[in-house]
Amino acid sequence: MAGPLNAKVIMAKCSNTKKTFGMRIEQRGGDWVRTWAFPLDERRAKHEGFDANTVSGSMNADGEYPGCPHCGSDGFVQCGCGKIGCAGGVGNHGNYAKYTCPWCGSRCDLSAAEIFDVSGGGY
Ligand SMILES: [Zn+2]
Ligand SMILES: [Zn+2]
Repeated sequence: MAGPLNAKVIMAKCSNTKKTFGMRIEQRGGDWVRTWAFPLDERRAKHEGFDANTVSGSMNADGEYPGCPHCGSDGFVQCGCGKIGCAGGVGNHGNYAKYTCPWCGSRCDLSAAEIFDVSGGGY
C-alpha cells in the first residue's frame, strides 16, 4: 500500500484565456503527478493559500488528468518567474515554440523539450 498521500493544489493560468485554475498534484515515488485541474478564482486561491504552493521538477500527467479547464491543453510551461501556465497558448513555429507567460507577460522561445507532457495535443 502507498504511504500517506502528499498532495497539494498549485495555481496555474491558462495561457490562452489568462484565466486561473487550480492544478492538483500528488507525490508518487518522488515524482509529482498531475491528477486534476479545475477552474479556480484567484481571490479564492489566495484565501486558501494555494498561490503560495510551489513545485519544481517535472510533473507527469496522470491518465485521469483532464487538461486545462479553460482550453483543454494537457501540457504546461513553467516560466522563469516560477509560475505555471497551460501550454494551450504556445504557438508552434517548427523547431521551437513561443510562449507568453500569462502571469508576468514575458515571452520566451521554447524547444519542444521544455514543454512538459504535451501529448496528444497535435505537436
Ligand atoms: Zn488553457
Ligand atoms: Zn512568468
